[in-house]
Order: sequence, then C-alpha cells, then structure tokens
Amino acid sequence: RTETTHYFGAGPALLPTSVIKQAAEDLIEYQGSGLGLGEISHRSAPAVAVVDNTKSNIKQLLNVPETHEVFFLQSGGTGEFAAVAYNMLAAFAKKTGKKGKADYIVTGTWSQKAAEEAKRLGVDVNIVVNGKKSSPTGKYDRIPEPETWNAFGSAEDTAYVYYCDNETVNGVEFPYVPKVPEGVELVADMSSNVLSREVDVSKFGVIFAGVQKNIGIAGVAVVIIKKLLLEKPSDEELTALNIPLAPIVFDFPTLVKNNSLYNTLPIFNLHVVYLTTKLLLDNGGLEVQEAVSNKKAEKLYATLDSVPEGVFNLLVEKNSRSRMNIVFTVIGGGKEKEFLDGAKAKGMTGLSGHRSVGGIRISNYNAVSEESIDYVCSWIKEFAS
Ligand code: PMP
Repeated sequence: RTETTHYFGAGPALLPTSVIKQAAEDLIEYQGSGLGLGEISHRSAPAVAVVDNTKSNIKQLLNVPETHEVFFLQSGGTGEFAAVAYNMLAAFAKKTGKKGKADYIVTGTWSQKAAEEAKRLGVDVNIVVNGKKSSPTGKYDRIPEPETWNAFGSAEDTAYVYYCDNETVNGVEFPYVPKVPEGVELVADMSSNVLSREVDVSKFGVIFAGVQKNIGIAGVAVVIIKKLLLEKPSDEELTALNIPLAPIVFDFPTLVKNNSLYNTLPIFNLHVVYLTTKLLLDNGGLEVQEAVSNKKAEKLYATLDSVPEGVFNLLVEKNSRSRMNIVFTVIGGGKEKEFLDGAKAKGMTGLSGHRSVGGIRISNYNAVSEESIDYVCSWIKEFAS
C-alpha cells in the first residue's frame, strides 16, 4: 500500500507503514542470515527469539502480572471460541471435580457466535445477557444495564463468564470490565480492540485476540491466561466427566509447556506483531495509545453528532459506542452509495458496513492516522451539507 492510503477496513486492517516496510525486508532476508523469516525453522534460535520478544513486549504493554502467562497459536478469533470452551471446562474440572457451566454475555455477532460454538461442543451455555432482546430496536445496539442482566452462576457451578470487549460488526464496546462473582473466571475476546487501551489483566482468567485488526496480519492469536487455569485432569478423568478433550493444537497447557511451539507457529506473522508492539512501546505504551485512540474516536462521534438530524442514523447507544468501529446508516434511498462513492473518489476506502448490518463502518484501529480521521470527518461534513 502507499503511505497516502486512507483505509478504514474492519480487518484485516491497516498496519503502521514502518512496520510493513520492515516486515517486507525481513521476509526477504532476516538479520543478514541469507534467509527470509518465512523460510526458517520455527525452532531455530531467531524464531524462538521472535516468540520470546513478542511475549515480552505484550507483557510490558499490558503490565501482565506474574500470575498470568502469554502465548500464541494459529486459530484466529474463531478458533479461540472453541479453545476457550475446552480449556476452561478442563481447568474447572481440575478445581472442582465437576463439569462446569458457562455464562455468556451476548452483545453482538461475535459473542453470539462464541456462545453457539460452545453449545455445539457440549457446554451448558447460559445466556446471561442478550443485547438484541434487551433492545427496543431488536438489534445489537447497546450493552444493557448490568442491573437488568440475569444472575451469573456461582464459583461452585460455573467454569467461566464470557464476553466480547469490542463487537466489531455492531460497533458496541464495553466501557468497563463486567463484574463477575468471586471465584468465577472471566474470559474476554479482545480481537478488535487489543492494545488500544490499558487493561487490568488481573481481573481476567483469559484474554484472547486474533491479531489481524490492531496489531498484525492474520494467522496468529494471542492468549493471556491465568497460570492456575493451566492445571487440568487426565484425559481419562475428563472423558469420565463427559468433558470433550481439546484437540492438541488447542490444548493451552500443552502450548504453554512448549513455549507456543508445540507445532509450527507462523513466525513471520508473529514478527509483524513483534514490530507493532515494539512501536507501541517506543511511542510510550498504552497510556499514549489509549489517548490517541480516544481522541480519534471522539473526533468522529463529535462530527457525526454535529450533523443535523435526518442525514445519518447512528446505530449504537451513546454509552456503548465503540472507539474502534463507528457504525451508522445514511438516511434516504441511494444515499449510502453516494456517501461511499464520494469517499472513494477522495481516496477513502474500506467504509462499507458489515454485510449483516449494512450502512457505513469506519474502523479506527491503532494504525489509522489522525490525519485519515480528520479527512473522513471533513467528508462527513461536506456530504451532510
Ligand atoms: N472476534 C472478533 C471480535 C472479531 O472481530 C473477529 C473477526 N472479525 C473474530 C472474533 C473472528 O476472528 P477470525 O476471523 O480470526 O476467526
């Protein structure tokens, strides 16, 4: 891509120009070795260094406490829907000798899919929150007030509570960490807002993210896990409890024991994550990135809110608006196409909403510059006028 591209796609998405340039060089030849980074063994010293250094960057950025471990695997976000179910049931069985249930907070397409996947795999899924049913519009356009949520299970019967921190399709983001009962583990999908703000990792059993939106290219997922959850019963004990065994490539204890290298990890893809996390650290860490992300999102919403009624329809309730994916429709027959065509003529692409929602979606990931946000804001104003 060129440096002047104004691209707002929802993922895979833009990456910092310096990262792409360095990655391209390293794909051809890595550190003067005569080989490119896609050509070396995942167990060679330079590859292991990529794993260790990326891990270290993420630990630093998120201030990951000693109680937690960071690892990587192929799988994408969707693979983690399954992996989390297997591994959390196993960890709960180790603690209690029982098969646990799972509570899902469903506030959009991705948490819905995660709940469906857990159910497919034989988990006793309890939908504690259904953002669609709780909304008068019948759409995922809000995080319902916690007072209206169904009760969570207890530490005695519930293996985990699951939620999606930022719903990429619907543009709904949690402005807080859901409060769960003492002793119940919290699992979060942060695929589309990972490393865009500070997070108190100690509150989570598991955080996972496919990297291809904010911090890398498709092919790797990052998992942060409480070390205590890496204890599991034997396969025989799990089977006796009617708990499905995780495929070995999804078995968290096996992956951690092998420093994320039980099987072939896409080292080049992980290297891109190394480069973006290094850049984040060099730029001052997540405190700085969070301020930048918030400022860009505030500019977008302020611009959209300043347009007189009747032009756009902002789909998400104010308290639940995503800083990462800003979704709205354009009112009037043919007007959406006019908006997109006009944007394209000015060099702005990646603005179409997800096929299930329609309308416009502006993705404001870490690599989208303030200049690009200003540019799209000026188009929004021009279009409205
Ligand atoms: N969770 C979220 C929040 C996502 O945005 C996505 C992808 N758009 C996924 C999960 C699924 O990721 P993948 O396509 O890597 O399986």
